[in-house]
Amino acid sequence: MMHEIPPRSGVAFHLDHGQRLTVMDPVGEQVSDLLAYSRADTREVISSGRTLDYLSRIFLTVPDPIWSNRSNIMLRIVKDSVGRHDFLLTPCSADTFRIIYGDEHPHRGCFGNLAAALAPFGIAADQIPVAFNLFMHVTVDGGTGAIEVLPPMSRAGDSVVLEAEMDLIIGLTACSALQSNNGSFKPIQYRID
Ligand SMILES: [Zn+2]
Repeated sequence: MMHEIPPRSGVAFHLDHGQRLTVMDPVGEQVSDLLAYSRADTREVISSGRTLDYLSRIFLTVPDPIWSNRSNIMLRIVKDSVGRHDFLLTPCSADTFRIIYGDEHPHRGCFGNLAAALAPFGIAADQIPVAFNLFMHVTVDGGTGAIEVLPPMSRAGDSVVLEAEMDLIIGLTACSALQSNNGSFKPIQYRID
């Protein structure tokens, strides 16, 4: 069964060891921030730093693993119809919108949506790390290190499938940042198999 995350919102749910999570962009050019915590101990969480270090690469796709802060594999990418995602930038937040966009009354962003969705699982806002940003298209200048956020390469119906390698709590959003989503906010769909 396909679930829908409305524009600018987020959810959290269990994903058991061996289950597969499909995340689909139903309209196209929409980012989804993904977090994963170990159900055995929610202090164990996905780690951008360790994953990029062990892969020696900043762009992930099939069959790359996503490692935890304790160097265990939490998830593995088993299907990917886009091939470009980001694992460098933190979830968009009220601070993002205040600092980068100059908003006076900023939206709480993916960060606030994730914090609210994860609170019932006993996970605090300070436990939110860099998310794996599905469909987010970030380029890096190899010489200067300058980064640029471009429109996602995902088209309607594109998806990524991740398999859990331990019992997890997942946080997942339909991203709230204009720049990341080519200027409009769209839903995200997901399914657990
Ligand atoms: Zn976002």
